[in-house]
Amino acid sequence: MNDSIWQLAKNVQSITAVRLLAASAGVNAAKRGIGSVIVIGVDGVSYDVAEALHLSGTLHSLRSVFPTTSVTAFLSSILGIGPEFHGIWGPVLRIESSTNDDSVVNLLRSRRYRWGDDWVTGGTPLNGTELNIRNQGSLFHDWQSADLKPIAISAEYPGMSKEWLDAIHLGAVRIVDPTPAAMMSVEPLAHTQIVIGIVRDVIAPMNAVWAHINLDPYIHLHGYDAQIAAAISYIDDMCCDFAAQGIPSMWYADHGMMRTKVLECDRLLWEQLETPLWCRGRAGGAGRTRWLYPHARFEGHVLKMLLDGLGTDAIVIHRDELGSLGLLEGMAEPISLRVGEVVAIATGERFPIPDPNLIFEHGGISEQERRIPLVIYG
Ligand SMILES: [Zn+2]
Repeated sequence: MNDSIWQLAKNVQSITAVRLLAASAGVNAAKRGIGSVIVIGVDGVSYDVAEALHLSGTLHSLRSVFPTTSVTAFLSSILGIGPEFHGIWGPVLRIESSTNDDSVVNLLRSRRYRWGDDWVTGGTPLNGTELNIRNQGSLFHDWQSADLKPIAISAEYPGMSKEWLDAIHLGAVRIVDPTPAAMMSVEPLAHTQIVIGIVRDVIAPMNAVWAHINLDPYIHLHGYDAQIAAAISYIDDMCCDFAAQGIPSMWYADHGMMRTKVLECDRLLWEQLETPLWCRGRAGGAGRTRWLYPHARFEGHVLKMLLDGLGTDAIVIHRDELGSLGLLEGMAEPISLRVGEVVAIATGERFPIPDPNLIFEHGGISEQERRIPLVIYG
């Protein structure tokens, strides 16, 4: 990788700059006649975790987006814009519908839910265009412009919104990683080896590869243990090998994860507030950031109840104050209406996450979640 990319990497701060960095690496590689570049998105790794492993690549620190969640962060890295612009604020959010009801959309299930709909068996399927994801092209278009063939490697996630999948693969030829979802939560190294194996198979002159390695399901259940260290070290070794073959390589994470505990009083408080009595529709958000859509007359009340109840490990604010926290790169109305009026954001360990069985979670704004590694080789 030539000097200008190094300089660029030193000066960028946001995950949205990954598009520019990866595109520049591709342009340089094409110019120098190498014609290949490898970019790996590693799901769920904190900066601190990468730093402690003393990797061979050069480590930079980036900021993830708000909220710190995969569907938002990876999309932001590929499109080069944050949720203020593309509109995907997390996996569960309100999307204006033609009937203007108060249902929420779950991207991971590709369904729209109203009060009383069962998350597994209920809800109505999305029509495929309602997310209205906005973009100004993608990393893959940038690579095309440099006469490279963009290839994206990612696993099938049954239920994931097709519209979101189309957006994140915009302009790429997609190759499906066959790792079964069940394997990801128990064998992160085996999954990593499968993905790197595909990268090795497809890398060739004029091919530019982006690949997703999903360590997130394992970390949710086990935290950052020796298996995660082994997977990251393997990625580091392989990227060194690619660089030694003259192929510029880099990897970055979408968000880090934080140990989380759910207190029974917090769970009950949330359950009490997320009802048709106080709210227009079900809660949305992403793990350690959750929001409610209260009836207008109850906004103040719901905010105060959460503020009083959640303690010092969370920030509770009105949606309109989000910009003042310095978490957003810009604000484009009315897209933010997708976010609920009352927003609770975890900063410490205690928070009423939707699935209390997870010991590590993300979505909040602790350093462990927001600060992510970008590692460059070659
Ligand atoms: Zn993730």
